[in-house]
Amino acid sequence: MHNNHSDIEPKRVDLRGVKVYAFPDRDALIDYADARKGLVVAVNAEKILNANDLTRSIINNNIGYTDGSGAVMAVRQKGADAVKIAGCELWLSIIDRFHGSKSFYIIGAKPKVHEATVAKLRTLYPDINIVGSHHGYLDGEAGRQALIDDVADKKPDVVFVAMGSPTQELLMADMFKRHKAIYQGLGGSFDVFTGTVQRAPKWWIDHNLEFAYRLIKQPKRIKRNIKYVVYAWWLLTHNF
Ligand code: UDP
Repeated sequence: MHNNHSDIEPKRVDLRGVKVYAFPDRDALIDYADARKGLVVAVNAEKILNANDLTRSIINNNIGYTDGSGAVMAVRQKGADAVKIAGCELWLSIIDRFHGSKSFYIIGAKPKVHEATVAKLRTLYPDINIVGSHHGYLDGEAGRQALIDDVADKKPDVVFVAMGSPTQELLMADMFKRHKAIYQGLGGSFDVFTGTVQRAPKWWIDHNLEFAYRLIKQPKRIKRNIKYVVYAWWLLTHNF
């Protein structure tokens, strides 16, 4: 039995203008996301230090949570209690909590990885109610719109989008306008979930160096342009 936190407004701490919720545990975050709806957004020290007006407002308009040790320490310095919640584990915690009671929509990854993800979820959670799913390679603007329509039509309680940034943020923003739910962007999580891509060894994760491990494994990631992420945030911000 977990406590129901949904009636309690969690503490929110201002870290250089970035507002982060101080959740004492994962259940508190999940309860709050369920009560409030919106995008759950991972916040770490890098995002706080590199924040600009746009990145700040997307976090501040949504549900920012402490994803990294730096963010946890900063929150604790402000006298609030917070735990480190890894985004790549959070989606599975959300499924753990709600597979018997809520509906899910699963989007993203290459068709084979996507199918394997849905199959693995159905094996792990035989009672899971997946009301819709689609791989992450949409057929142009028409395909994208059809997917937004389908989410609005099926009205899932939880939507996971694993397409990488900024595509997933743009899509979630457009979907949220049509249908309120818990949304989480998952990047390459389905590749990890299905064993297509290995997660960094524990040491790297414990030392907040998973990003470095991934850069070494996939050097082309360095080329990715931060401007697109900022643009996505701008669009997201103006949708709320
Ligand atoms: N992807 C997708 N649709 C696209 C482009 C990418 O579904 O149009 C998927 C891709 O197959 C991979 C994920 O999105 O599973 C991106 O992973 P990455 O690790 O680059 O994302 P990040 O976590 O860095 O945002």
